[in-house]
Amino acid sequence: MKQSIKGTGASPGLAIAKAYLIKPEEAYTPVQSKVDQPESEAARFQDAVRQAQADLQQIRASTEHKLGADKAEIFEGHLMILEDPDLIDAILEQIRDNAVNAEYALYETSQSFIEMLSQMDDELLRERAVDIKDVTGRIMRHLRGTQQADLSLLTEECIIVAEDLTPSDTAQLNLGAVRGFVTVIGSRTSHSAIMARSLDIPAIVGAGPELRHIRPGTLLVIDASEGILLVDPTSEELAEYREKKTRYDRRKAELARWVNRQTASRDDRRVELVANIGKLEDVQKALDNGAEGIGLFRTEFLYMGRKELPSEEEQFGSYKFVLEKMAGKPVVIRTLDIGGDKELPYLDLPKESNPFLGQRALRLCLERPELFRTQLRALLRASRFGNMKIMFPMIAVLEELLEAKRILEEEKRKLVAEGQTVAERIEVGMMIEVPAAAVSADLFAKEVDFFSIGTNDLIQYMMAADRMNETVSYLYQPCHPSILRMIRMVIVAGRQQGKWVGMCGEMAGDETAIPLLLGLGLHEFSMSAGSILPARELISRLSQEQWSAFAEQAMTLTSQEDILTFVRTHTQGGHQA
Ligand code: PEP
Ligand code: MG
Repeated sequence: MKQSIKGTGASPGLAIAKAYLIKPEEAYTPVQSKVDQPESEAARFQDAVRQAQADLQQIRASTEHKLGADKAEIFEGHLMILEDPDLIDAILEQIRDNAVNAEYALYETSQSFIEMLSQMDDELLRERAVDIKDVTGRIMRHLRGTQQADLSLLTEECIIVAEDLTPSDTAQLNLGAVRGFVTVIGSRTSHSAIMARSLDIPAIVGAGPELRHIRPGTLLVIDASEGILLVDPTSEELAEYREKKTRYDRRKAELARWVNRQTASRDDRRVELVANIGKLEDVQKALDNGAEGIGLFRTEFLYMGRKELPSEEEQFGSYKFVLEKMAGKPVVIRTLDIGGDKELPYLDLPKESNPFLGQRALRLCLERPELFRTQLRALLRASRFGNMKIMFPMIAVLEELLEAKRILEEEKRKLVAEGQTVAERIEVGMMIEVPAAAVSADLFAKEVDFFSIGTNDLIQYMMAADRMNETVSYLYQPCHPSILRMIRMVIVAGRQQGKWVGMCGEMAGDETAIPLLLGLGLHEFSMSAGSILPARELISRLSQEQWSAFAEQAMTLTSQEDILTFVRTHTQGGHQA
């Protein structure tokens, strides 16, 4: 069965090994039966709980040893479920009051919890449903005396093929043997995916029911960076992927030594490499990839995929989490940027014929101040937990910035009057993504602490080319002389007023653009976590002074194509300036 199956790459990398199948636990629905001695049935249940507790303590200890205390926290949560009176006492009550068998009471009670929690909008509650399923499954196995495959005992190299993996399955994988895993269901944010990333093994999740046809021992190739699984590859494919894997592994090993370093050019100019994040899980990835901070937290993701606005309290919790996790490193949090391609159906906003030119981002926030004020209050309250900077998106004219700052100040005064603690000093900056703001950056520079250039939008507005429209995507030309000149203008304007200038559009992580941006004097480069180490290594090979001259030269060329050729000539083949 030669086949290529597409799924979601949950943890990058390549693996080649034989399939080891984990059969889904047979569906078991216990039948209700009466017991003569409910008290001894209750004791049998408590015994199974104690055995589950012993398992979990052992898994927690070995996870802590292998992966550190924060990864072992999941099992702390599992142990707490075993002590949760709402669940455990309810089961005991059912056994005692109705004189039913423990299996039935466990199944009935846990099922109602799992069903209720899995329908919740809140992702954390849905994850709790998965945890309860995992824990109660464990108690059930002890009650029934059945065994689950012990994944820590696997000794032969393999790729695990499973319906889904629970966090405890994942934590128990013997990394001496398991080369990767692939599951039928799951998403990038499922617990098993998160564990795979921390274990640093390639994984594909959500690969669908075709996986169920794979036979034990079939040769598999995982290319998780592409989300592709090859089943029974041809010898040509195998040779191709072996070579790809060797290149990947070599590059990864080379890059790993850059994780804990500062970023500096060959002539010792310091710049900062920071990460773009959208979800709380992204923070760990940013840290693992050596981010020196967060350059863009797209907070609109906290508002998406749900049915109502997140409360002030919920937002406060999210911002506090990120700030604490980054432990004093800078965290730039952008206020809500909804509109354009990012919709919030529950806000019932009127349809616009040009949404990217419509009531987006700060424009919407100024129109709906209650929305804006809730977010600002949450941000201000969280500010004392780290090094927070607030950034406003989509500003075109100075009045918008001044109004946003006024509202921020007003909320700050109110909070202080209420006796809340707000950080002494919070830097306030703006995105430069509207050409009007870019050309008058000198006028804005007096009013902000920093600029961050949002090239994804800036380029679409400069080129008058919708970033969602494939047919005009050829006009997305970050290294076009017009764009580079505009960027230079913003950097110069910021510098003249002593303000730092960063970039958080995709261009900041583009290896061809980086030498030019370094040359133009960009201070902070914010990009997806995976791009940080290659960028750090690249910058270490470049001379800022030399690239400053090259950037000037590049901007006299007439097309992006000529500029790209120019950059490549000066960065390749040991001829590095
Ligand atoms: C940008 O426009 O460059 C940017 C970073 O913002 P977003 O991609 O979220 O619009
Ligand atoms: Mg933008």
